[in-house]
Amino acid sequence: MQALVKTRKGVGFLELMEMPEPRPGSGEVLIEVKAAGICGSDLHVKHDRFPYWPPVILGHEFSGVIVELGPDCRCYRTGERVVGEPHTRHCGVCYLCRTGNIQICPEKRSPGWGIHGCMTRYLVMPEKLLHRIPDSMDYDTAAIVEPTANTVHDVIERAGIVAGDFVVVIGPGPIGLLAGLTARTAGARHVVMAGAAADEGLRLDKARELGFETVLNVSRDNLAEAVKTLTGGIGADLVIECSGAPAAIAGTVELARKKGKICAIGLTGGRTVDFPWEKAAFKALDVVFCMSTSYTSWNRAIDLIGSGLLPAQKVITHRLPLAEWEKAFSELEAQKALKVILHP
Ligand SMILES: [Zn+2]
Ligand SMILES: [Zn+2]
Repeated sequence: MQALVKTRKGVGFLELMEMPEPRPGSGEVLIEVKAAGICGSDLHVKHDRFPYWPPVILGHEFSGVIVELGPDCRCYRTGERVVGEPHTRHCGVCYLCRTGNIQICPEKRSPGWGIHGCMTRYLVMPEKLLHRIPDSMDYDTAAIVEPTANTVHDVIERAGIVAGDFVVVIGPGPIGLLAGLTARTAGARHVVMAGAAADEGLRLDKARELGFETVLNVSRDNLAEAVKTLTGGIGADLVIECSGAPAAIAGTVELARKKGKICAIGLTGGRTVDFPWEKAAFKALDVVFCMSTSYTSWNRAIDLIGSGLLPAQKVITHRLPLAEWEKAFSELEAQKALKVILHP
């Protein structure tokens, strides 16, 4: 089968090549991949900025249909349409696994970097990590369940957004936009989507198209002043940081109200943040960090997308055959694409 493979360590070394079809082991199913989303982490693997074990097939955001069951499968049948949590190879016995946090098990190795991923025709997955998708959900939309499960976990489960909250989202990439949609679905009364000069064009235009109440370019507009004015001087109930830019992270404290919350999603790429600790202390802020997804966030994401309450598929800008992966990656790197779906 043709697969997009990171062939060895270093920058680049991506190749569309022939790979053997995988066989499902005990408790595993063979999935025919119908749609594969490209994630920021796939770009990081390409650029050697993320752990990976080459040669490895890229991709963890998938939807597909079960075509074969390995021995001892108990929950699924062939023909079922599914998506799956990327928490493969979690150990099952450590403190984190036993407390329901398999997503941060130190042994975990996800498809796309730790084991073979979904940018190919067939993928093997343990059936215990799968979730069924409704008949009415098309495969491209289902491929957005994974990033949406992230924002559902972060904004609803971790940050505990409450209906009526005034929310600021910084960083209008796919995750920022999905975080904004998640906040709106959870009852935010007002979502401010803030981007930088580089986000002008595709990203901020998408934010305007999605109808967020306020869309700002911080190189032109003063975000802190805008938030103050819009909240009558009180500040935001919840600030969701998706840019990973150290200055933006430091600025979240100014935006949040006293006893407000900061939901930290964006990663800095190893840069240190000069965080105004004292100011955060006097404001009595809650700062929550987030990593990956939970079992419950997958079900909630599927239900919210399936019911039409959370139109996650609107962040898709490109649909391309796997053979055009080079175009897909270069469009993403040039910020000419938001979410790209590849069809194997
Ligand atoms: Zn992802
Ligand atoms: Zn574990």
